[in-house]
Amino acid sequence: MEQGHALEVLLTEEEIADKVSFLGEQISRDYAGSGELVLVAVLRGSVYFAVDLSRCLAIPFVLDFIGISSYAAKTDPLGIVRITKDLDTNIASKNVLLVEDIVDTGLTLNYLLKNLRTRKPLSLRVCALLDMPARRIVNVPVDYRGFEMPDVYVVGYGLDYQERYRNLKEIAVLK
Ligand code: 5GP
Repeated sequence: MEQGHALEVLLTEEEIADKVSFLGEQISRDYAGSGELVLVAVLRGSVYFAVDLSRCLAIPFVLDFIGISSYAAKTDPLGIVRITKDLDTNIASKNVLLVEDIVDTGLTLNYLLKNLRTRKPLSLRVCALLDMPARRIVNVPVDYRGFEMPDVYVVGYGLDYQERYRNLKEIAVLK
């Protein structure tokens, strides 16, 4: 889908769907028999991934959302991120899986994990569709990883460039 820039597709719709279903199976196996899982999607980029992932889960779950100020981590060297919408679910003593679209510097994830840990979940893991290890500033655990990516700015499948391209079915680099 062309919306003004030249795009180079890195991951096709089919490659993404296969990976999401693989992750869903892995997560379902790991959490089988451990009660209700709280899936926490980070607004807004992760919503597309989180919804598709949730369709591939064979275990009971609650889907909730946390909103953070976008790009705060990029302009703030301390990685202080502002919560713009908090969870509706009390995650104390629950198994929590944080669903991220992309882990880049790791600053956002680092902040979110610290914040969620203060709420005393039973467990807290991370599922990220895309991982850019070359850009990491802070070491963060990624328990379930979709694809390792080169150091490029990607759009599509929920990821935007100035709010555009979220609806792209592929993941692409802007040229
Ligand atoms: P961090 O640098 O804190 O790991 O990444 C924070 C957020 O920046 C990600 O959740 C994502 O919303 C955004 N981001 C990082 N890299 C990219 C990218 O290549 N493309 C897009 N569209 N967003 C990105």
